[in-house]
Amino acid sequence: PVYLDYNATTPVDSRVLEAMLPWFSEHFGNAASRTHLYGWTAEEAVATARKQVAKLLKTNLKEVVFTSGATEANNLAIKGVFEKYSYKGKHIVTVATEHKAVLDTCHHCEQLGGEVTYLRPDTNGLITPQQVAEALRSDTILVSVMYANNEIGVIQPIREIAAATHAGGALFHTDATQAAGKLPIDMAEEGIDLLSLSAHKFYGPKGVGALAVRQGVELTAQLDGGGHERGRRSGTLNVPGIVGLGKACELAQKEMNAEAERLCRLRDRLEQEILANVPHTFVNGKASQRLAHLTNICFEHIDGENLLLSLKDIAVSTGSACTSASVLPSYVLKILGLTDDQAYASLRFSLGRFTTEEEIECTIQHVIETVERMRVGSAV
Ligand code: PLP
Repeated sequence: PVYLDYNATTPVDSRVLEAMLPWFSEHFGNAASRTHLYGWTAEEAVATARKQVAKLLKTNLKEVVFTSGATEANNLAIKGVFEKYSYKGKHIVTVATEHKAVLDTCHHCEQLGGEVTYLRPDTNGLITPQQVAEALRSDTILVSVMYANNEIGVIQPIREIAAATHAGGALFHTDATQAAGKLPIDMAEEGIDLLSLSAHKFYGPKGVGALAVRQGVELTAQLDGGGHERGRRSGTLNVPGIVGLGKACELAQKEMNAEAERLCRLRDRLEQEILANVPHTFVNGKASQRLAHLTNICFEHIDGENLLLSLKDIAVSTGSACTSASVLPSYVLKILGLTDDQAYASLRFSLGRFTTEEEIECTIQHVIETVERMRVGSAV
């Protein structure tokens, strides 16, 4: 089988695994144990990882809070700001095509008396800084806009959106789960106050991530207890996971440019060959600036479920893995204007570090033959 679902998750890079291994049994100390060498050693490893994350985001290392992943980071950012700043206002602005980890957290705030504006993007998934500016009110405390979309890869104009947010006196959060480690990010320069990321999307382990918080931004903790992470997230730190996240950041920083170039070439070939050889296809979000390693292609007049089943040797997805338990068509694609049938018949191909040219050639052939076979006998 060919794995082209890197946006769902990535394998742990062997260099990351190697860095993690000593931290399970050999150096097993609790990073919060301040009275002996076991604790100090673990604390040092966590400090190194914190520097590696901070370096990737060009931020201050005091600003990194380790979490169990991006879902938790998004919850901490949104609920944490909502609780802390509700004395100023209870209005949040976000986008209808955000990940459920943002949307459902916003719904939670609504149940607590918050008001949320869900901006609608254009047919390519983009929103504009003007839309944000127009949505801001005197009681807006937070704007949350994802850096790059997990389904179609569209990259939002983050710097301009952050500037519009600040002009309105609110804080700016971005769910950068699909962008961190893939795109160069400079939190300070781009004006990002809070940023969520997850290790398993860029060759680190699952179940670990971080929320980077600009100095001066306050948050109400969502996990109370021993006061870890400067009181922002209690719970004994997952030292091997955090070491893995740090290593993944270090590797990404060194390799992201060359990797993006290579993957863009492969992605373009895959996309062009499919579009040229399979009639009735189009790319979702193509006209926007988008991630280099991903294409989301609609195969019109084809039953999406059958297509996925027929392509079972190629691991791709419809919608996002996180909501695949539901049989509903992708809400992201529907917001772009696709019909239910078009959304069901759209496949996301996401490439990654270990994708080879041969795999792409094999995928091209397989997709062309499969769709041709499925269309035989049908009118289109
Ligand atoms: N945000 C986005 C944009 C994602 O793509 C994902 C994962 O699919 C998440 C958040 C959730 O991340 P995690 O799996 O670390 O909880």
